[in-house]
Amino acid sequence: MHLNLQKILLLLLTALTLLVIFSGCSNDISSDKNTDGDESKISIAVSILPEKEFAESVGGEKVNVNVLIPPGSSPHTYELTSGQLKSLAETDIYAVTGSGIEFELAWMDKIIDLNPDMVVVNLSDGISLLKNEGESAGTDPHIWLSPKNAKIMSENICNALIRMSPESEQYFRDNLHEYEKKLDSLDENIRVALSKREDEYVMVYHPAWSYFARDYSLNLISVEVDGKEPSPSELAELIDKAEINNIKVIFASPEYSTKSAEVIAKTVSGKIVLIDPLSGDYIENMESVARAFSSE
Ligand SMILES: [Zn+2]
Repeated sequence: MHLNLQKILLLLLTALTLLVIFSGCSNDISSDKNTDGDESKISIAVSILPEKEFAESVGGEKVNVNVLIPPGSSPHTYELTSGQLKSLAETDIYAVTGSGIEFELAWMDKIIDLNPDMVVVNLSDGISLLKNEGESAGTDPHIWLSPKNAKIMSENICNALIRMSPESEQYFRDNLHEYEKKLDSLDENIRVALSKREDEYVMVYHPAWSYFARDYSLNLISVEVDGKEPSPSELAELIDKAEINNIKVIFASPEYSTKSAEVIAKTVSGKIVLIDPLSGDYIENMESVARAFSSE
């Protein structure tokens, strides 16, 4: 026993000496370690792709972001895989959208149960939630589709990162400030783009754009209500509305079927234009959405 302990101590001492020598002679070694291991980084999980941009913009090189809902999947129906549940074991912070996304309503309790040490930050703190369209109770979950809300969500991420790593406070605050400047000019660009619009109504397939419409005074007509395709009589009503208001474009989303949108477009001799509520390039995508809305 005694001998073994001495051996171990000797080994430890050698290892420590080597470590000092190596870290002293080359900075490259330690920076390589950072990019490979990632253990020095704060691990953040988010539900949807746009939140990855928020987290990476604020966290910079000090964070690793894990998005749970893959591109092309709907946050209203997505089921977590067991592999993804396991991947959350190393997560420091879960930045939950908190606005009533079905995915989070279904999975957050389980995720928290399995990861009791994980910090959960609610990105919707400070955002006034709109009610859902249609008969279903609850709130409209699509808060991220408003640059004003995106700023609040990014601030909430910043505060959580500062709590986790107070020594990097200035770094996170500087990053937040830079990103908020970009969101401000996005807001301004959207206003300019939409000021060229002449039509009063915008018809969208998936009702994701209420916060956007609130910020920029658009009147939305949604084809899908309560997550369902319209009934034949609802479809007839929508076609009437499209004809009365001279609507020639129906905006659909890549994540959802465009069947009934196509029927409307065909009937009014209009067309379908795809806009993406879940793009990972948040700012770029929002500018192209504004362009699409303005040039219909
Ligand atoms: Zn949606």
